Amino acid sequence: PMGVCPSARMALLRDNFTGLLNPWARPDVLTCTSWGAPIIWDGTFDPAAAQQKALQQNLTIGLTVFAVGRYLEKYLARFLETAERHFMLGQRVVYYVFTERPAAVPRVALAPGRRLRVVRVARERRWQDVSMQRMHTLHEALGGQLGREAHFVLCMDVDQHFRGAFGPEVLAESVAQLHSWHYHWPRRLLPYERDARSAAALVPGDGDFYYHAAVFGGSVAALRGLTSHCARGMQRDRERGLEARWHDESHLNKFFWLHKPAKVLSPEFCWSPEIGRRAEIRRPRLLWAPKEYAVLRD
Ligand code: UDP
Ligand code: MN
Repeated sequence: PMGVCPSARMALLRDNFTGLLNPWARPDVLTCTSWGAPIIWDGTFDPAAAQQKALQQNLTIGLTVFAVGRYLEKYLARFLETAERHFMLGQRVVYYVFTERPAAVPRVALAPGRRLRVVRVARERRWQDVSMQRMHTLHEALGGQLGREAHFVLCMDVDQHFRGAFGPEVLAESVAQLHSWHYHWPRRLLPYERDARSAAALVPGDGDFYYHAAVFGGSVAALRGLTSHCARGMQRDRERGLEARWHDESHLNKFFWLHKPAKVLSPEFCWSPEIGRRAEIRRPRLLWAPKEYAVLRD
């Protein structure tokens, strides 16, 4: 879906974290949703204003990432090193790394005000289960120390690295990421779960966008709700012998259909370089690693 926000009422959007958003700065793309949430594209926000706003609120921002099995050696060091160069610079940050091998977590030098905590998790046998189990594990972490020390949390895949500034302009009560392969597809073709027996099912015609599970976030309270909804849906499916088409991502999409995100990130915030150049993608912030499933998945 392209084009300027349909709402003629809208001038500048006021945003608690970003200062003022200017949706008109990008007439080439959709900059607000039908429910009035901003879709942030390069040029619609002022990173310096966002930085100031966040500092005034004295925020602690969490970044969670899972590195289980071969994903640890393959991706974690680069993810963390590039996060130190681009993620929430100048803010208080706490990384949470979930792994079955805490001793193997690389020692990355952290700037002042930034810390890293490692949480041991069990290694699921199937990669699908590693991915899906994240919702349950995150739910517990958000109910514990992570939830006590962070105000906002971003939850990310590890098979990607930062390439540009990823700052407090992304913060909101709940945050969803447009999927870089699907943001311009017609809705009827989006890969939602269609088996009506699944808790993740969307009927044809439902769905706003297709969101990518590699990046989502929000306040601790909102993420408690999101993770419990998704974990319960996956548990219910498992009891019925079902598994949604794209695993936790299918359940995440169902959640955001029912509970609209307060902010949507343009595909610049999680871009797949394999797509090649696109005029509207000005400044990619986070880049997918090439998929090497043959090496990573049994
Ligand atoms: N993951 C992991 N070990 C695994 C499978 C998954 O650590 O064996 C974590 C990792 O953070 C990964 C995420 O779960 O980025 C989602 O899996 P993956 O990236 O393979 O899914 P895709 O992005 O291909 O859908
Ligand atoms: Mn991934």
